[in-house]
Amino acid sequence: MSTITADVGAALGISPLSRMAYSYAPGGHADLVAMDRRWQWTSLHPEMIRRHLAAYFSHPGTVITGHDDNGLPILVTPMGLEGAGRKAGEPARLNFWSRNSRTHLPGRPSRSTPEGRAWLEPGMASIAYPGTSVHEVDTYQGHCLAVDSIGWQDGWFGENVARFGLKTFWNVNREPWHTQPYGYGNSKSELQADLARLGLHATVLPVIPLATPHPQPTSKPTPLDPEEDDMPRYTFSHPQFAEWFLCGSAPAVNASRETVQAANVPHIEAAHVGELEGYARQAGLTHLTRADTKARIPLDTALGRLRSAKS
Ligand SMILES: [Zn+2]
Repeated sequence: MSTITADVGAALGISPLSRMAYSYAPGGHADLVAMDRRWQWTSLHPEMIRRHLAAYFSHPGTVITGHDDNGLPILVTPMGLEGAGRKAGEPARLNFWSRNSRTHLPGRPSRSTPEGRAWLEPGMASIAYPGTSVHEVDTYQGHCLAVDSIGWQDGWFGENVARFGLKTFWNVNREPWHTQPYGYGNSKSELQADLARLGLHATVLPVIPLATPHPQPTSKPTPLDPEEDDMPRYTFSHPQFAEWFLCGSAPAVNASRETVQAANVPHIEAAHVGELEGYARQAGLTHLTRADTKARIPLDTALGRLRSAKS
């Protein structure tokens, strides 16, 4: 079993018991040891694991909850993983064509593929044609080089990732949650050409600011039982939006359908409207279902109501 995440964490000076956000864990958090059992994450290039851990645990919302037996601080960060590695091949091709039409859809974005032109279906999130995504694990040395993160909505991530050797795609595909290595091309082919020339070397990372004062302890206790790791319900708690659920197809592009079906996931809750919108757009959802009334409401209407709700 991989210990890369726990090892990288220790090398960065934080305990492997530190917890990061992860959609598919109870309470939405998992410690670094648990993350080493997640293929989505461990399929990342080790240097990308290192850069993302350093960024996540430098988020100003990070709190210290104690120290482990080795004296390393145990941190909890509001940032973490939505999805990373993908396998290319037939499942990815079917996923692509479940979102795109082979027949002309007037006014819809389109792209050329080796199988002919593809028009993005209304309400569907864009997804790369198989073989062209940096999420795919054949991108570099058998690893994926792209991450979709949780917790970017407050803007800190976008403003600070460059310090950690990362860039987001906020201005590329309007994907502020998507990161790739800083300083290389955006497309898979450009990136691979740059890597062939330059390699992906360890970046000098800022020191995780452990001295940052955290006057309040974490307000909601995080569940500590690792046996609960595969619970079927994913919760991102926020009282204001607790009654809103995402229902429908797979919750996110980067969650494999096998994972979702195996876990029998009925729905997702989101912490706040921006996060909910991110998931909904990624998942290509057209409607949201209210948990209390079970009413199916068009996505944009639901988001508008949530945004105008008194906070
Ligand atoms: Zn992505």
